Amino acid sequence: MEIKVRCNEINCHSCCEETEMQLSERDLKRLEKLGYNRSDFSVREDGIYILKNVNGKCFFLKNGKCSVYKYRPLGCKLYPVVWDLERKRATLHDFCPLTNEIDKKVLKRVERILKKHIVEVFGNINI
Ligand code: SF4
Repeated sequence: MEIKVRCNEINCHSCCEETEMQLSERDLKRLEKLGYNRSDFSVREDGIYILKNVNGKCFFLKNGKCSVYKYRPLGCKLYPVVWDLERKRATLHDFCPLTNEIDKKVLKRVERILKKHIVEVFGNINI
């Protein structure tokens, strides 16, 4: 499952800059299968792995493009749909300039997948 957004068309990769994208063990293993070590592309903060930035950009962003696009973390695939921890539901991240192109039905469809992902990332939390 992934959300189709026109990032490449408008040459936008703002969400890949100063990223704090959280990674599940599944994401980490998928990327490690490409030959990377998790310490190459991620940092651990408060027990959670997040993507590493190099010079303010995601480790995987090369020449304005995601170099692991097909294998990118689930959170990247579902962006700009994000999990609102306070409201306990999926929501659109205002930071993305293309959120108005996302159908509300898509948001609903993604919610279950995103919730499962968040539980995988954070462990047994009440969401
Ligand atoms: S993994 Fe790819 S899509 Fe995700 S933040 Fe990095 S460059 Fe962007």
